[in-house]
Amino acid sequence: MFTLPAEAAQLESWWFDARENQLVFTTDSAVRPRAQMVFNPTRIVIDLPGTTLGRPPTNQAIGGAIREVRSGQFDARTARLVIELSAGYTVNPRDIEVRGIRGNRWVVQLPQPEVSETAPTANAGNSVTGDFSNDATTFLSNVRATPDGFFVRTSGQIPTINLERRGDRGEERQIIIDLFNTSISPFLDAESLPRNRYSVSRWDITQDNQNLTTRIVMTLSPNSPDWEITPTNIGNQKGLVIIPPSGVSISSIPDRPQAVDPTIAVPPSSPPPAIPQPSQPPILPPSVNNGRILVAIDPGHGGRDPGAVGIGGLQEKNVVFPVSMRVAELLREAGVDVVMTRTSDLTLDLEPRVAIANNTNATIFLSIHANAISLSRPDVNGVETYYYSESGRQLASIIHANVQPASGLGNRGVKQARFYVLRNTAMPAALLELGFVTGAEDVVKLRDPAWQERMAQAITRGILQYLEPYRR
Ligand SMILES: [Zn+2]
Repeated sequence: MFTLPAEAAQLESWWFDARENQLVFTTDSAVRPRAQMVFNPTRIVIDLPGTTLGRPPTNQAIGGAIREVRSGQFDARTARLVIELSAGYTVNPRDIEVRGIRGNRWVVQLPQPEVSETAPTANAGNSVTGDFSNDATTFLSNVRATPDGFFVRTSGQIPTINLERRGDRGEERQIIIDLFNTSISPFLDAESLPRNRYSVSRWDITQDNQNLTTRIVMTLSPNSPDWEITPTNIGNQKGLVIIPPSGVSISSIPDRPQAVDPTIAVPPSSPPPAIPQPSQPPILPPSVNNGRILVAIDPGHGGRDPGAVGIGGLQEKNVVFPVSMRVAELLREAGVDVVMTRTSDLTLDLEPRVAIANNTNATIFLSIHANAISLSRPDVNGVETYYYSESGRQLASIIHANVQPASGLGNRGVKQARFYVLRNTAMPAALLELGFVTGAEDVVKLRDPAWQERMAQAITRGILQYLEPYRR
């Protein structure tokens, strides 16, 4: 487990003004952006060192000369904004201006894009095409290089596959892997696929919604061995293991000769005027999100699993279920879609709870619980909220800030913990502990339907406050 240093900045908002051809973004503390132009496809990449996204990646389709603008987390310490031009367009990188308005507010000004003189080269990199489908039973999350070869990570059911090999040794060959009943995950993007690793020159992934099949085409350079592809399910690792055939050592396979996208550095950014930054609440400009908002609510425990059992035999599941159902109702009244991991007194493992959130591409995930310590410790009381990833921290903080004061219970704070549902959900996730069923003060409230209603209201307020930037 690692945590980011406290001084890491967070990207608060960004938007692209298509009329002015400019990208404006704001962070919560000062950053030094780095811009570069990258080709195939042509795009301007703005990296924010020491900055996290703190929210799901988003994209804004533009149209015309600019295809789309998107945000993502490039690595643990770098947030990335990408302005991708439409095919056949280019800009002169010398005319791109990166301008600091303040240390935490920057403008990337593009010149008017021009029609590119050279015909756009055939896409030399990896590709992912097709749209996420909800109907699949398996979801392809990513492909990564491992010390043994490659791993195609999936969620949901173990994929059923069909293999086809094309071409002869000594020339460019292809391995075609069809995964049945499988959809690409909405988070899969071509940039994250391995580049030039182990003599695999490219990866092309296409989603066919008609037949609910995802096709992976591995293009092998002439010196590549054949690969063995095996569906697997080891612990949390579900997917396809891709390793060389027996007798071929992975260390004998060269990485494909470098044919990396050329990049052109954009002239250094002009520093912002040196105005001391008073700490002020961020002004959130219209934020961008094409996707729909979907909130996953997970009532803890259920069925044969009562959760904690406290004073007077109060069962955790009987507190968190009505609160969760009421939160779902209130969110829907506010026009927000909700997916519940369970809607009855059902026994449910942790894995399907995570799968429901991941497979529906929920925007956020909230698991609702009540706490317990021991019947001999009625003195321990209070509300606490957990997160695991940096992206969950903001969600947990906002929910806690709404729930704890409304609860009338003690404040045990917002904490990081390695709970399964927090570690394995792909979106910002939080786990709320509404109070202690073993606590003498808390138990009185926990069993009171009027208090439960106030909690549902407070949780809903927190969720809506967190989602506010996305709901425009
Ligand atoms: Zn619990």
